[in-house]
Amino acid sequence: MSEQKPIIRICDLHKYFGDNQVLRGIDLDIMPGEKVVILGPSGSGKSTMLRCINALEEATSGHIYVNDVDITSPSTDINKVREHLGMVFQRFNLWPHKTVLENVALAPKLVSKVDKASAEKKALEMLKRVGLADKANAYPASLSGGQQQRVAIARGLAMEPRAMLFDEPTSALDPELVGEVLKVMTDLAKSGMTMVVVTHEINFAREVADRVIFMDGGVIVEQGNPEDVLMHPKEERTKTFLKRVL
Ligand code: ADP
Ligand code: MG
Repeated sequence: MSEQKPIIRICDLHKYFGDNQVLRGIDLDIMPGEKVVILGPSGSGKSTMLRCINALEEATSGHIYVNDVDITSPSTDINKVREHLGMVFQRFNLWPHKTVLENVALAPKLVSKVDKASAEKKALEMLKRVGLADKANAYPASLSGGQQQRVAIARGLAMEPRAMLFDEPTSALDPELVGEVLKVMTDLAKSGMTMVVVTHEINFAREVADRVIFMDGGVIVEQGNPEDVLMHPKEERTKTFLKRVL
């Protein structure tokens, strides 16, 4: 493991929105197979950091490497980089007029120019993985929020990404639907996928994360194994935050 190169490397990342400095020097390496959970209060810059990783936001300064490719370099083909990263958002944004299968098969067909039959075969495989093969021909509106989010995960997996990024994937769900999504994510973690997960689900962090990162005010305040950060936080800001969410 130690000789491996990071899949994602963030070096001194700064991000401003106008005068608002949102990220203030983030350094972070994500290793192959690593599961990293990011915690932090609202507005601390978690989403902005994730969005910088797949260039949905442009870094103001610093560098981000995905598979050794500097995505902050103007000469980089960002669409190529995005193929290596699956992203799952709080809102799943499935195409309402496409079936579940078509939603999952769409990116491989458009981006990798895979033919329809192989894209759909792959999509069905991914739907099996999230336990929704039987919904392949259904439309998103007929699915529960939890099922829709599982489809969104299958969609992210369909490109066979090197890493999956999750931004509060269960925050928009009714409480009774959270478990099925976390279960799919836990299975994915067990399969060896590299994962970066922004979530307030402390139990998920405790059970799945190799590393927990606490962010506040645009910096990484504290990080370490889940036991250390969640049970024995060193920093006052981490303690205060955990008291509120636990
Ligand atoms: P978190 O995900 O930790 O809640 P965000 O990364 O969403 O935090 O936001 C951090 C800060 O950046 C907030 O002050 C927010 O208002 C600001 N921000 C986020 N996105 C934008 C944007 N597109 N334009 C302007 N400000 C933004
Ligand atoms: Mg956010």
